[in-house]
Amino acid sequence: MKILTSIPLAKYTSLRVGGPAEHLMLCESYTDIHRALQDFPKSHVLGYGCNILVSDDGLSGTTLLFQGGSTTIEDTLVIADAGVWWDDVVKMAIDHGLWGLELMSAVPSSVGGAVFGNIACYGQQISDTLAWIDIFDTETGEISRQPKESFVFGYRESSLQKDNSKIIVRAAFQLSRKPLHELKYDSAIAIGKELGIDHTTLEHCRNIIIETRRRAGSLYDPHDPDPERTAGSFFKNPMVSKEQAEMLARFDETGKTLERILSQAKIHGGTTQRASAAHILLAAGYHRGQTWDKVRLHPSHVLKLSTLPGATAQEVYDVCQEIIATVKNNLDIDLEPEVKFIGTFRQ
Ligand SMILES: Cc1cc2nc3c(=O)[nH]c(=O)nc-3n(C[C@H](O)[C@H](O)[C@H](O)COP(=O)(O)OP(=O)(O)OC[C@H]3O[C@@H](n4cnc5c(N)ncnc54)[C@H](O)[C@@H]3O)c2cc1C
Repeated sequence: MKILTSIPLAKYTSLRVGGPAEHLMLCESYTDIHRALQDFPKSHVLGYGCNILVSDDGLSGTTLLFQGGSTTIEDTLVIADAGVWWDDVVKMAIDHGLWGLELMSAVPSSVGGAVFGNIACYGQQISDTLAWIDIFDTETGEISRQPKESFVFGYRESSLQKDNSKIIVRAAFQLSRKPLHELKYDSAIAIGKELGIDHTTLEHCRNIIIETRRRAGSLYDPHDPDPERTAGSFFKNPMVSKEQAEMLARFDETGKTLERILSQAKIHGGTTQRASAAHILLAAGYHRGQTWDKVRLHPSHVLKLSTLPGATAQEVYDVCQEIIATVKNNLDIDLEPEVKFIGTFRQ
C-alpha cells in the first residue's frame, strides 16, 4: 500500500481538476483496502475518479483510492473486489460465457463506484444482476455481507449514496449462461449491422458496445496522459411532464419519432417520464462546443462538460450552477448533476 502526502487529486479524476489530498493511500488489493479501512475508517473513498468533481481546496484527512484487487468466478457467480477496474470484470464474465454485464462493457469505473452509482447503459444496470455486497461499516469497524435486497437502487442511484458510513469492499453478480437482456438501442444495433456482426454472441455484443461507446466519446483510460477531460454525462435525465417530454422531443437531431424517443428514455432511465438531459440543454439554448474560458460543452456531446488545461474545479462548478439556473428559468425543469461534488465550493 502506498501512502502519499499533499498529492494533487486532479490526475486521479477524469475531469483532471481538483486540489490535493492531505494524505492519499493507494489501495491496490483487498488486503490494502482492509488494512486502510481499519486504520482510517473515516476517510474519503474514491475509485477511478470518473464521476467526481474535487474542489480546488482539496480534501483534508486521508483519501483512500481503491484501484486494484481480484475477481473470481464460482459457477455463474462473479465476485470482485471494490477496486477492480469494472471492464476487467465484464471481460472475465464474457470469457467464461456468462451473460448479464456485456452491455455495460467499457463503462469507466471501479466495481465499488459502479455499485455506488448503479451504473447503467444500453438497457442494463448493475442492480439487475447484483447478488450481494461486502460492506465495511465505519461505525462498527466490521465487514458484513448483505444481499442486494438490503439496499434500494434506482436510476443512477443507490441508498448507499445516502449513508456515508457504508463502504463497498467487494460485490458479487449472479450471471447466466443464457442472455438476460436484449440489445434494443437503435444506434448500437445499426453499428452492429455496419460491422457485419449481430448481438447474439457475447463477444460480438461487447464489440458492438465498445464501438458504439467509442463513437459517442464514452471511452476513458485512466492511464491516458491526455484523455478527453469529461466525467461522462454531467447531468441526470430528469423527470418531466408529458407535455415537456413532447416539447423536448423536438430537439432530437436523429429523426426519431416521439414514440421511439420515449422508449429510448425508458432504456436510459427506466421510465418514459425521464427526458434526455441533452435535449434539455439544447432546448434551453446551449450548444455543443459552447465555452466558458476553460470549461466547455464537448464539441460533439452536449451533455459532457469538459475541461481544458488550466481549468479549475470552481469554474466547472460555476458553469454547472449556471446551467441548472438557466434550465429552471427557461424550461421550469430541475436538472441534477450526476457527478458527485467532493470538498468545498464557493456558492
Ligand atoms: C467517459 C465516461 C463515460 C461514462 N459512461 C457512463 C455510462 O455509460 N453509464 C454510467 O452509469 N456512468 C457512466 N460514466 C460515469 C462513471 O463511469 C460511473 O459513475 C462510475 O461508476 C464511477 O466509478 P469510479 O470508480 O470512477 O468512482 P469515483 O468517481 O471515484 O467515485 C464516485 C462516487 O462513488 C463513491 N465510491 C467509489 N468507490 C466506492 C466504494 N468502494 N464504496 C463506497 N463509495 C464509493 C465515491 O466516494 C464517489 O462519491 C461515465 C464516465 C466517463 C468519464
